[in-house]
Amino acid sequence: MSRFWSDTARRLVPYVPGEQPRETLIKLNTNECPYPPSPRVMRAIQEVGGDELRRYPNPESDALRCAVADYHRIEPSQVFPGNGSDEVLAHIFQGLLKQQRPLVFPDITYSFYPVWCALYDIDYETLPLTEDFRIDVGAIPRDNGGIIFPNPNAPTGCPLPLAEIRRVLLGHPDSVVVVDEAYVDFGAESAIPLIRDFPNLVVVQTLSKARSLAGLRVGFAFAQAELVEALLRVKNSFNSYPLDVFAQRGAVAAYQDEAYFQECRARVIASREQLALALSDLGYDVLPSAANFLLVSPPGGDAAALFGRLRERGILVRHFSRPRIDRFLRISIGSEEECATLLGVLKELS
Ligand code: PMP
Repeated sequence: MSRFWSDTARRLVPYVPGEQPRETLIKLNTNECPYPPSPRVMRAIQEVGGDELRRYPNPESDALRCAVADYHRIEPSQVFPGNGSDEVLAHIFQGLLKQQRPLVFPDITYSFYPVWCALYDIDYETLPLTEDFRIDVGAIPRDNGGIIFPNPNAPTGCPLPLAEIRRVLLGHPDSVVVVDEAYVDFGAESAIPLIRDFPNLVVVQTLSKARSLAGLRVGFAFAQAELVEALLRVKNSFNSYPLDVFAQRGAVAAYQDEAYFQECRARVIASREQLALALSDLGYDVLPSAANFLLVSPPGGDAAALFGRLRERGILVRHFSRPRIDRFLRISIGSEEECATLLGVLKELS
C-alpha cells in the first residue's frame, strides 16, 4: 500500500464484478442478455457524426430524458440518467441515503451496497432474508435512514409484490425507499406508477439487462422532481457530462423498439422456465426466479466444486462464498443453444 494513498483509498474493499474472460466461453456469470441490441440502436450509434463527437454532449441528456419519460408516462423532471445504474446508485447513496440513521438493506442482496456505504461513510443495518429467501418488509426497523432493495432481489431472483412495496412506502414515509429494478423486466412489477403518490420513492432501472446494452452503460433513477434535483446536484459536482453521445443516441433508440424488447424478454423468460424445470428434474434445488438468472443448488450441495468443473468445460457461472448461498450457483439465462449445452454438461457431470 503506497504512503501516498488517502485514508479513504486505504479503507476501501472494492466490489469485485463477475469475470469478463478473454477466451470464448459460454458466459453465464454476469446476467447480460444473450441477444444483440435492437438493430435500431446499432443504426442510431452508427449515425453519430464527427461534429457531435467534437463537441461536449448534452449535459443533462435532455432528449433521452424526454424519450424515457414519454415511455413511462412520467415527466422529464422525474428522470435522472447515468452511466449505468451503478453510477446512478452511487449518486443515490451520496445524495439521498447518507442520513443520521442507518440505511437498511437485505442480507442477502446486491453486494455493491455495502461498498458504497464504505466509500461514502454511511452507517447500515441488514435485514436477514426469511428461510425461503424472501424480504420480510414487516421486519424493517422503524428508525432507519433509508431503505434499498432490488426487485427482484439479487442473486436470489425472488420478487416482491407491488402491494408489499406500497406497504414499505406507507410504513416509512420519512425514509427514502430505493427499489433497484435491474431485473424487473423478467417477471416483477415495476414501482414506477407509485412515484406520483410517494415523494420518498426512487426507482432505479438499467438498459444493461433486458435491452442488451451493458456495454453502453445507461441507467436511470425515477422519482419526484425534488429527489431528482438532489441527484443532479451530486452529478454536477462530479461529472457534468456522464452520458456520451453514443449512449444518449443509442438509449433513445432502445426505447423506440418495443417489439424487439418484448421478444427478447419473452425468450429469456421461456428459457428460464425450461431450464428451471430440467434442473429440478436432475435433482437440483431451484429457487423460483423472476429475473434473468437462476440460483440453483446441485444435489449434494457442493456448488464450489461444480463451478470448477463447469469452468473446465468452458462454461462460466457465478459462485458466491457467502453464508446461506455458498451451496448455490447463480446461472445467467443464455441463448437457447447455450442453455441446451449447459444442461447437457450438467447431465454428464451428475
Ligand atoms: N443493480 C443490481 C441488483 C445489479 O445486479 C446490477 C448489475 N451488476 C446493477 C444494479 C448495475 O447494473 P448496470 O450498472 O449495468 O446498470
